[in-house]
Amino acid sequence: MSDVSEHSGSCRCGAVRFEASAGPTHISYCHCGDCRRASGAPVSAFVGFPADTVSLTGEALKTFDNGPVTRSFCGVCGSPIAYADARVGETIYFMLGAMDAPETYKPTLHAYVREQLPYLHMPDGLPRHLKTSVPRPEETLS
Ligand SMILES: [Zn+2]
Ligand SMILES: [Zn+2]
Repeated sequence: MSDVSEHSGSCRCGAVRFEASAGPTHISYCHCGDCRRASGAPVSAFVGFPADTVSLTGEALKTFDNGPVTRSFCGVCGSPIAYADARVGETIYFMLGAMDAPETYKPTLHAYVREQLPYLHMPDGLPRHLKTSVPRPEETLS
């Protein structure tokens, strides 16, 4: 990783910008169907930062809640920006492709490979989790 201390990114049109003052705590691919729908891509990749190190700017930012998961996107150009999961604490996961320097965030694992598309082959030797890579507490509510 570079020695840039700021980690920044934006949507396609620039109406939404964000940055984190600390380094990422999580970089992964996700093969789940929910991310697939949200991104439109066969596989998604995310860079997670502690929420209290993140600042987001742009009135165009919109959010969509699906249970405990909140996804955000630019209301002008539609670019997906991030997701957060209320079950797993204070981390914001930005779309890796929204980062200004995506090449510096090399994923360290694959999540939800049981939903991976059968024609997608990524023989990178990284750990592969059948479901989530971040433990969720047992579903006790609702
Ligand atoms: Zn935009
Ligand atoms: Zn996913």
